[in-house]
Amino acid sequence: MREIWYESDALNRFRGFGWMKEPCRSCDEKTIDLGGCRCQAYLLTQDPANTDPVCDKSSHHERVIEVVRAASKRTEAQEQPIVFRNDANSRRIAALNRDSRDSDSKDREQKS
Ligand code: SF4
Repeated sequence: MREIWYESDALNRFRGFGWMKEPCRSCDEKTIDLGGCRCQAYLLTQDPANTDPVCDKSSHHERVIEVVRAASKRTEAQEQPIVFRNDANSRRIAALNRDSRDSDSKDREQKS
């Protein structure tokens, strides 16, 4: 565990502020939230160095708005199975999100 925490390239890559892209790089909030969640950025944008899409300054923020909007339309709670994270499940979830985003994008293109 110690080796992973201190010597992992994946974790060391995101220490400090040098890895940040805009808008995080020049944002006054970066010392408070450190650019948000890297896992969330990767899951929703396929690039862990992107701004967390939950932030309204993210160019991917509309994706989060769409998910929240869709969730608020549900009238009944839907029971979901617990999916434990592992490499295969994370890739499958990322692919589902990618397919959903592509489908949403095509829907928007057809409406315009
Ligand atoms: S996630 Fe948003 S608020 Fe946080 S540092 Fe980046 S741009 Fe600023």
